[in-house]
Amino acid sequence: MTELPGNDVSGDDRTGKSEAPASASLCQSCGACCAYSPDWPRFSTESDEALDLIPIMLVDLSQSGMGWTGYRCAALSGTVGCHTECMIYTIRPDVCRACEPGDDACNMARARHGLPSVSLAASSQDLDP
Ligand code: SF4
Ligand code: SF4
Repeated sequence: MTELPGNDVSGDDRTGKSEAPASASLCQSCGACCAYSPDWPRFSTESDEALDLIPIMLVDLSQSGMGWTGYRCAALSGTVGCHTECMIYTIRPDVCRACEPGDDACNMARARHGLPSVSLAASSQDLDP
């Protein structure tokens, strides 16, 4: 079984939405898109080799996407709207890389969790404390 990758969040990290530090900071305090729908983190264009890196215990039974525990992706740690982290950030599925802070999918997910919308412009600004 593949080992879970380390949770070193230095540099470009978090739920994996953007490499920009400000956006990463926003995502680290959010995680809403990772707790939106079990139909969302589906596998699509990944190679078999890339999918093989994802620990099987985090994959759904049909092996068509990420597993889901309760209301959230099995790879999400932390508290939505407070502090979250993707446990498989470096090997996350392509759909996770496509969702960007401030885009329509992002704000739809944030609204589901009662979080305010963010703009694409705001997400690129310095949001660090
Ligand atoms: S919903 Fe938006 S801000 Fe929240 S983690 Fe996803 S991309 Fe980042
Ligand atoms: S794999 Fe990571 S980035 Fe993708 S939905 Fe799950 S926790 Fe979020």
